[in-house]
Amino acid sequence: MPEAATPLMPIPGHVDPVPVKREITPREDGRVDLVGLSRAQIRTELAAAGLDEKQAKLRSKQLFHWLYHRGVTDFEAMTDLAKPMRGWMAERFVVGRPNVVEAQVSSDGTRKWLLRSDDGQDYEMVFIPDADRGTLCVSSQVGCTLNCRFCHTGTMRLVRNLTPGEIVGQVMLARDALGEWPKGNMGGTMAGFGDIDEDDDDTPHYTTDGRLLTNIVMMGMGEPLYNFENVRDALKVVMDGDGLALSKRRITLSTSGVVPMMARAGEEIGVNLAVSLHAVTKEVRDEIVPINRKFGIEELLQACADYPGANNARRITFEYVMLKDKNDSDEDARELVRLIKQYKLPAKVNLIPFNPWPGAIYECSTPERIKRFSDIVFEAGISAPVRTPRGRDIMAACGQLKSASEKKSRAELDRLAEEKQAALG
Ligand code: SAH
Ligand code: SF4
Repeated sequence: MPEAATPLMPIPGHVDPVPVKREITPREDGRVDLVGLSRAQIRTELAAAGLDEKQAKLRSKQLFHWLYHRGVTDFEAMTDLAKPMRGWMAERFVVGRPNVVEAQVSSDGTRKWLLRSDDGQDYEMVFIPDADRGTLCVSSQVGCTLNCRFCHTGTMRLVRNLTPGEIVGQVMLARDALGEWPKGNMGGTMAGFGDIDEDDDDTPHYTTDGRLLTNIVMMGMGEPLYNFENVRDALKVVMDGDGLALSKRRITLSTSGVVPMMARAGEEIGVNLAVSLHAVTKEVRDEIVPINRKFGIEELLQACADYPGANNARRITFEYVMLKDKNDSDEDARELVRLIKQYKLPAKVNLIPFNPWPGAIYECSTPERIKRFSDIVFEAGISAPVRTPRGRDIMAACGQLKSASEKKSRAELDRLAEEKQAALG
């Protein structure tokens, strides 16, 4: 299957947080999972399986539509394929979904899924419903190599890049779970389905079709820009107008500051950018976001200023986690304003109350402190809303992802130990 491996990107410099290479186990039955593949890749697969070029082209378009627009997983339901063709496909291909290990619902409606890849890697996705939107928080890696001091995910030992199929699979699974695939007949035409966005039009398109899932944020586990190619390929599939058709304006990629990849992200993906700034001095950012030792604040802000597509209509979001007595003083707020102005950044600031997790060494700033910080930034003319923590009771809030997977693997280890004991008599 093309691109099934998880290519690793060596990053020069003294901190080298490159994931350990892990082979992806091919399916035991030898069939190829089509989820995550582009139209061209599906076509290549069909040709490799023996269809002539014309057939491969036609069938790839049909499959693309059934997969990503209709959410169909059974070839038998693909009514514009002749019966023998459906059987032929089913012998060679599957339309897969991530395995769900556990699904939880928070008292505030936030849902979290613990997913497992075919090679036994656990990762999580979170759905956050709001009055006017529904946001799916998607993971890009199993774990994260970057070890931000306030982030639970950064403490995970096992790390591997998720494949495009595993990334797109999260969106597909969310659509399944929310019951959001269009019903009814295909109507004999490929085009005209979904909300296809014109690039130059600034009005949002995806609000009125009644769907729950309207936005995607690459803010789950992992650093998306350390898995650049897979994230890019996955988001291209997600944005394709004949498929899932999410507008790039409704997708946000959050990076901790992988400066060398930011321009490419703007050019090749073109979604909204969020940057985990979290501190305004070298000393504090070096401590809490260690990638800062490699790419400093000035470099990062310059890359933001150069980010293609950023303008006043599409501002860059700076995420700022509120840590008591660490980064939350009036001076910090004023320095934040100064930096944003110095680099003339079309910016908004998202203040994130620190979400605790077992073993964390920080505390959340007081509500009064957060309010004051927000006011200082706001009075300087920069929007600085405080993000309401969501899903804390199920450990689904920002920076809390890990616990379920770790708990599972712990539980599994215990079970294995018990089995071993039993086997030993
Ligand atoms: N790795 C990417 C995206 C995932 S994290 C990044 O770091 O940007 C999504 C956001 O949650 C980031 O801004 C991250 O810094 C923040 N975050 C991490 N741990 C947190 C915690 N314990 N409380 C609040 N926010 C946290
Ligand atoms: Fe990784 Fe982001 Fe967590 Fe930092 S905040 S450890 S980059 S997931």
